[in-house]
Amino acid sequence: MRLDGKVAIVTGAGRGIGRGIARRFASEGAAVLATARTEEELDRTTAWISKRGGRTASVVADVSHEGDCERIVEEARARFGPIDILLNNAGIFGPVRPAEEISPEEFDEVIAINLRGPFLLCRLVLPEMYERGSGVILNISSIGGKQAYPMGGAYGTSKAGMLGLTRSLAAEAAPRGVRVNAICPGPVTETRMSQRLGQALAERLGMDVEEQREGVLRGILQGRAQTVDEIAAVALFLASDAASAITAQAINVDGGIVYY
Ligand code: NDP
Repeated sequence: MRLDGKVAIVTGAGRGIGRGIARRFASEGAAVLATARTEEELDRTTAWISKRGGRTASVVADVSHEGDCERIVEEARARFGPIDILLNNAGIFGPVRPAEEISPEEFDEVIAINLRGPFLLCRLVLPEMYERGSGVILNISSIGGKQAYPMGGAYGTSKAGMLGLTRSLAAEAAPRGVRVNAICPGPVTETRMSQRLGQALAERLGMDVEEQREGVLRGILQGRAQTVDEIAAVALFLASDAASAITAQAINVDGGIVYY
C-alpha cells in the first residue's frame, strides 16, 4: 500500500472530495484524522473506513477557528502519532454574486475558511515535519484560482491565495524535506458545493440548471465533469513517495480547461 504507516489529516472529510480522499488514503494504509463541522457526516466517513479495517478518528471542528485547528492537530498526534500528511480540502463557495453585492463579512468568511484555515493548520504541522525532515502538505485549490470567472470574487480570491501560500511554503519547506503542492479540480458535479453553485448560477443567469451545466461541460476538452475518485487518485499520487520530486506545483485535474 502506498501510504502504509502514514498519519494524515483530511479537512472537510464529511462529504464530497474530502470524503473521497479520506477513504482513499485509508485504503492505502494511512491512519486518517477526518474533520469537518457536521458530526453525522464525519461518523459516516469513519464508519466506512473502520468497516474495511482502516485506522481513523474524527474531530468536529471549524477550520476558521484557531483553537479548533489546534484541537485537530493535537487529536491526530494523540491518536496516531506525528503527522505525515496534511490535506487542506475544507471549503465553501460563498456568495454567488458580483463583487459589489458581496458584503465585507461574507468576503472575510470565505477567506477565513478557504485560506486562513489552511495557513493555521500548516503552521501547526510544519515544525514537527521539519524536525523529522519529511512531510507532505496538499491544498485543494480550484481552477477558479487561475481562471477569470464571474460571480465568485471571494472564492476565486481565496483559491488564488491558496496557490500563493502553496508556493511560499514549498520554497521554505523544500530544503527541509517537506513537499507542498496544490490540486486545481475542474467541476466535480457530484458534490453538494458544485450542485448548489450550479443552481445559484442558473438562477442568477436566468437559465435552466441542466442548460447551465451543459454549457460548462462543453467548455472542457473531455466534455465531462471530473469525479471525486479522479481527484482522490491525484491526491494519493501527490501524497505518496511516487511524487518525491514534485513540489510547489498546482496540478489541474480538469479534463482540459486550464493550461498553466
Ligand atoms: P462539499 O460542500 O461537498 O464539502 C465541503 C467539505 O468541507 C464538507 O465536509 C464541509 O463540512 C467542510 N467544511 C466547510 N466549511 C468548513 C469549515 N469552516 N470548517 C471545517 N470544515 C468545513 O464540497 P466539495 O467536496 O465540492 O469541495 C471540497 C473542496 O474542493 C473545496 O475546497 C472546494 O473549493 C474544492 N473544489 C471543488 C470543486 C467542485 O466542483 N466540487 C472544484 C474545485 C475545487 P461541514 O459543512 O460539515 O463543515
